[in-house]
Amino acid sequence: MILVVAETLEGKIRNASLETVYYGSKVAEILGVSCNALILGPCSDGAKLGGFGAKEVWHVDDNKLTSLDSQVFTKVISKIAKDNGAKVVIVSDSSFGKSLLGRLSVALKAGPVRGVNNLPELKDGKLNVDRPVFSGKAIATCKINTDIAVLSLMGNTLKPQTTGADVAVKKLTVELPESRTKVVNVKRSVGIVPLPEAQIVVSGGRGMKDPSNWGILEDLAKVLGATTACSRPVADSGWRPHSEHVGQTGIAIRPNLYIAVGISGAIQHLAGVNSSKVIVVINKDPEAPFFKAADYGVCGDLFEVVPKLTEALKQFKASHH
Ligand SMILES: Cc1cc2nc3c(=O)[nH]c(=O)nc-3n(C[C@H](O)[C@H](O)[C@H](O)COP(=O)(O)OP(=O)(O)OC[C@H]3O[C@@H](n4cnc5c(N)ncnc54)[C@H](O)[C@@H]3O)c2cc1C
Repeated sequence: MILVVAETLEGKIRNASLETVYYGSKVAEILGVSCNALILGPCSDGAKLGGFGAKEVWHVDDNKLTSLDSQVFTKVISKIAKDNGAKVVIVSDSSFGKSLLGRLSVALKAGPVRGVNNLPELKDGKLNVDRPVFSGKAIATCKINTDIAVLSLMGNTLKPQTTGADVAVKKLTVELPESRTKVVNVKRSVGIVPLPEAQIVVSGGRGMKDPSNWGILEDLAKVLGATTACSRPVADSGWRPHSEHVGQTGIAIRPNLYIAVGISGAIQHLAGVNSSKVIVVINKDPEAPFFKAADYGVCGDLFEVVPKLTEALKQFKASHH
């Protein structure tokens, strides 16, 4: 059995977890076993995971699971994995998934692989999985020697597809330990898709000159339904919040479209964005290294190009309504 841990946000399944479950169902096909999904904490729409390949959807709902304490979560997941003979446990490569990976591998005596980005191969009875290393400059193939594997899946590895229908959610009860920590307050940014899940990202660098110029990027992001990001010096100077900083020392993202505005394309920046499906670069310097990584490039002054692009997109949208 493959056990996929589905994450929730405000009582709903996260989009990233639809992909994790779909991926789990593909791993299950490779191993000739079934894929089950596990939801922890309040959730109202777990049934839909059946449509993305979960044979059964299990739900443990308990007040002790509201604090996102990875120690408590590990106890539940490892117990259910052991009781049901799970061969592979899959989590998302989110910050929460990463906090579970090491703990689960200890609890299950399982070989962990972080940030896998393709389907495993079965060779001589052992799973071989790939993961990008050195900021995406190389791919490591890891052979998992243990009977149980724990994987965290990078977002945008597979496009989730509906393969079946909703299934009835089965409630499970597990004896839980008291959490050693308690989240007393959460302040969440509202109204935008978080960077790791964003399909379109509009990102600004030092070429923007001043934080007061960000309005033109926000206008572009708004018309595209995009999330905004920035280079590190922009966040370091306090022009934008650190939660927007992408790159080697920031968040690594893999959107379908990454639009880099006034960013030179230093290797440390590219490390976090070069897995994007399509990269568009707007820069006035034809020698900017980012053009080498770009699918499309506009060589020009961003203060002229970006408002024109936004206007053209607005007109395009208006004429297609
Ligand atoms: C250990 C380490 C880790 C790092 N980690 C990261 C990281 O995670 N993320 C990250 O981003 N950086 C990181 N850096 C910094 C990185 O090396 C670069 O310094 C940084 O990415 C440069 O940011 P930038 O492109 O915004 O600025 P700049 O390099 O100053 O580039 C600005 C660009 O804007 C263009 N420009 C200027 N005016 C205009 C205009 N009017 N119209 C169009 N284009 C214009 C310029 O031609 C230039 O290419 C790291 C560095 C180190 C040493």
